[in-house]
Amino acid sequence: MPDSKKRKNAKGPMTPGGDSFWFNLVTGIVALVMLAGAYTYFANSTKKPSSDIAISQLAADIGAGKVSAITIDGNDLAITYADKTEKTSKKEPDSALTQTLSNYGIEKAQLDAVAINVKRESTWEFWATQLIPFLAPLVLIIAFVWYLSRQMKGAGMQAFSFGQSKPRLIDPNDANSRVTFKDVAGAKEAKEELIEVVDFLRNPRKFLDIGARIPKGILLMGGPGTGKTLLARAVAGEAGVPFFSISGSEFVEMFVGVGASRVRDLFLTAKKAAPSIIFVDEIDAVGRVRGTGVGGGNDEREQTLNQILVEMDGFEPNEKVIVMAATNRPDVLDPALLRPGRFDRRVTIDLPDRHDRLEILAIHSRKKPFAEDVNLEVIAERTPGFSGADLFSLMNEGAILAARENRKTIAQFDLIRSIEKVMLGPERRSHVLNKKEKEITAYHEAGHALVASMLPYADPVHKISIISRGRAAGYTLKLPLDDKKMQSKLEFLDDIAMSLGGYIAEKMVFNDVTTGPSNDLQVLTALARDMVTRYGMSDKMGTVALEGEGGRALFGAGVDGKEYSEKVSADIDSEVRAIIDGAYAKAENIIVTRRDALDAIAGRLIETETIEREEFEQILIAHGITPKRKQDIEHQPLV
Ligand code: ADP
Ligand code: MG
Ligand code: ZN
Repeated sequence: MPDSKKRKNAKGPMTPGGDSFWFNLVTGIVALVMLAGAYTYFANSTKKPSSDIAISQLAADIGAGKVSAITIDGNDLAITYADKTEKTSKKEPDSALTQTLSNYGIEKAQLDAVAINVKRESTWEFWATQLIPFLAPLVLIIAFVWYLSRQMKGAGMQAFSFGQSKPRLIDPNDANSRVTFKDVAGAKEAKEELIEVVDFLRNPRKFLDIGARIPKGILLMGGPGTGKTLLARAVAGEAGVPFFSISGSEFVEMFVGVGASRVRDLFLTAKKAAPSIIFVDEIDAVGRVRGTGVGGGNDEREQTLNQILVEMDGFEPNEKVIVMAATNRPDVLDPALLRPGRFDRRVTIDLPDRHDRLEILAIHSRKKPFAEDVNLEVIAERTPGFSGADLFSLMNEGAILAARENRKTIAQFDLIRSIEKVMLGPERRSHVLNKKEKEITAYHEAGHALVASMLPYADPVHKISIISRGRAAGYTLKLPLDDKKMQSKLEFLDDIAMSLGGYIAEKMVFNDVTTGPSNDLQVLTALARDMVTRYGMSDKMGTVALEGEGGRALFGAGVDGKEYSEKVSADIDSEVRAIIDGAYAKAENIIVTRRDALDAIAGRLIETETIEREEFEQILIAHGITPKRKQDIEHQPLV
């Protein structure tokens, strides 16, 4: 039911060609015609019926002395005869009766015998009679137009309220939706920054009395799923203040002018509820650099952004409202947002490291029954690069897998399978490789894995598979032994060699190359290029960063606005070439000299499709290769 109601609301207003519009128009016109008719009829009926006698007859009667009195009412004459009969007549408009009568040859003496009363028209009556015939239709038309326009506007208002989204309010007293810092694992620095804000919201007086300036705006920056929204809610939860949240992307869908007024309302409501928090999620949706938009549709965004800025500037220092915003694209934000007095406090939230991942996993396993073999440490170790949201869905996937197989507890095995699911998307069982494809893929992945295990700086292999997932035909999962923030030149070189491993193996075994390695080639070329142009890792080019973060940006220099000459450009190309050639030679050497191991790995892959780390290491050992082990690194004696 509510659905059909909503539809009606949505349709009538938005489409001026809709049924109700035409109904109104026709009704209005019919009413107008009927009123006009009624008016004419009424106006005619008030007029006296045509005069009884002609003015010449009247003159004759006066001459004969038959008339005793005449009452003049405008142009109408009421005549009373000596014999008490009454007649009416009309005089010529705009001329005095006496004048008219004298024209008919009535003497003054004869007129004196007649009592002439002039019934003076009141000015109101005069104006009314003059104006009504002319004004009435006009008034009707105006009324009609007003009525129609009101209909349209009413419709318009409905349309707006249809597209409008109320800010979501999280009540501090609602225990169910309350989030505190306990629910947010890791993000230590961010929490430390925000504790100050919590303190202020809890006890604003303390800060205001001492004249401390509290930031109005706090910008949370971090990748998708790193817990920005969660953290903002936790601040409100810790401080016990109302939390008004709205998403930047919602403004974009609104009609022109609505976004700005929504912002106004939002700030007004929040001020009334102060101390409180306003949270603008995905602020990059409205806060992008202004004036760079291509095509139309940006007005609304700009107006909304301007309104946010105006509201923030209008804050009194004692307003006790704190604006928090979240973005994963701080690079595209309008600089105006970052000016002092606006979002001048910025908090970065990084992807969780191994320790934080363990904590996040622990938080999301609170209400989950686990089998005894579950070891979250192992899961945390195997999930570098996972965001909080990824870990949340990993736990959820694990529970779903267990439930599907009618088990009462979640096993380690479920969680391990979920890692891959979250990382690579669901398995594509429907796509079955034919025999040849399978062989090629097996050798390709074996090439990656073999090169990776022979190079000192490449990450160890955790798993190899030729079951296709997502877009890749197969994959070799190599995981760093530790979370790394920095990578060295030697690591990059080994990475490039390992990426080439797939291509070289295919070429050597089948004397042919497929489209399979194209993604590998793209990635490794980009990496080699970055080494030369950004990280200063080329001896020939020297320690020069030729390209900034993000390379050729859309808004700074133009697409071909290179900051270096053709000569340098050619040098870069030859350096990139040299890096890749060096890595190629290294990888090729491994594959040629260890062909036996390559065949063994590929053979096993064709057989079982997946090789886990333990089995892979057995194969290596069988071929005289010592696998890299974590212990080797951790338990190195400190000499
Ligand atoms: P963002 O807003 O940064 O995209 P969210 O705050 O919406 O991310 O996070 C999505 C979900 O991921 C949260 O609801 C929570 O379940 C989980 N999550 C993310 N980060 C953390 C964390 N640090 N601790 C616990 N859970 C987290
Ligand atoms: Mg979010
Ligand atoms: Zn590959």
